[in-house]
Amino acid sequence: MAYIEPAPIKDKENPLESMMERFNLAAQKLGLSEEVYNVLKNPAKQVIVSLPITMDNGKIKVFEGIRVIHSNILGPAKGGIRFAPDVHLDEVRALAAWMTWKCAVVDIPYGGGKGGVRCNPREMSAGEIERLVRAYTLAMIDVFGPDKDIPAPDMGTGPREMAWLMDEYSKAHGMTVNAVVTGKPLVLGGSLGRTEATGRGVMVTALAAMQKLKINPFQATCAVQGFGNVGSWAAQLLEERGLKVVSISDISGAYYNSNGINIQEAIAYRDGNKGTLEGYQGAEKLSNPMELLELEVDVLVPAAVEDVITIGNADKIKAKLIVEGANGPTSAKADAILNEKGIMAVPDILANAGGVTVSYFEWVQNRLGYKWTAERVNRRSDRIMKDAFDHVYQAAVKYDVPMRIAAYIVAIDKVAKTYTFRGGF
Ligand code: GLU
Repeated sequence: MAYIEPAPIKDKENPLESMMERFNLAAQKLGLSEEVYNVLKNPAKQVIVSLPITMDNGKIKVFEGIRVIHSNILGPAKGGIRFAPDVHLDEVRALAAWMTWKCAVVDIPYGGGKGGVRCNPREMSAGEIERLVRAYTLAMIDVFGPDKDIPAPDMGTGPREMAWLMDEYSKAHGMTVNAVVTGKPLVLGGSLGRTEATGRGVMVTALAAMQKLKINPFQATCAVQGFGNVGSWAAQLLEERGLKVVSISDISGAYYNSNGINIQEAIAYRDGNKGTLEGYQGAEKLSNPMELLELEVDVLVPAAVEDVITIGNADKIKAKLIVEGANGPTSAKADAILNEKGIMAVPDILANAGGVTVSYFEWVQNRLGYKWTAERVNRRSDRIMKDAFDHVYQAAVKYDVPMRIAAYIVAIDKVAKTYTFRGGF
């Protein structure tokens, strides 16, 4: 019998609670009215669908598909689709809200949304994944739209899945609609610079923060957790800017080399090794991958999953600066410990906003029917990221709060003001 597996209970903090704790703090600092608080607190729309898929063995398996639109106050909802075995509604709600705040922080005209399908793409064939993407798209055909809700890749999905989504959506509408989704392959209207955009934004905000902390990049060390798209690009670009990347990790484990890891070489190794660092010889393997987070480095970039810096390890973190490539890598309870230790954290909703910024450029190019050069994309996204950093830093000084709460303040203020202008019923 086909059945929908219940979400596994994780021995972790609930990301929605983590998001709400920061939201509450920022709302309080801003003096947000109770009415607007209630509007921004609740997701605008939540859709859950059941997706029966014929697997390669001929059996039908039913998957659960989620799409949450947290807000469309600033514009159409924007946010990725996550394919992961443990994805659950509260997580998608938190991720959707983070997209709202992220788009507001970098000042692009989007609300926030997020999708999730509980599945393990690592154990599925390309055909099974394609059928799942197409079924999910059709089930969400009235939710998605270039002026309504624009998906993109997230964990477990990439350009290939976005191409299937665009194709299915286009077929259902009898015309090519490439602006319905971003993160597409270049030939389908993807943007130059989109692949590296999130890692590039991590690099730009890391350098801006290092300047404030008076850390010289040419004398700085760095550890990067996660060697997927975000982590490997962040590592490569930080290395290019002079930092010595002494540790990297992925699902196969964490690797350490006090002389610095050659990131291009590590990427080439991963690409020729079914996408993992398993067996990588350019560094020694740490006995416990979580040790990476506690290394004596200047800059720590968590670019893997949620909830890795928690009350369990926050007091052991020695980095001077944390730049969050992942969404939600630090639990709300760990914030206080990091603040007390004087560690600056460039929060996810600022540090990893380079991805959605170039998604916005992709959507703009699709609507113009035009293509920008990589140079134009990078120059404009670098400027947006640097401006956003400065804006959040100024808010941190003005409200006397850490960078994370300052980023929420900037975002909530923008969305609240826009809501007040638009008005309600
Ligand atoms: N999934 C990415 C994020 O969390 C990108 C979203 C997008 O480009 O819409 O920011």
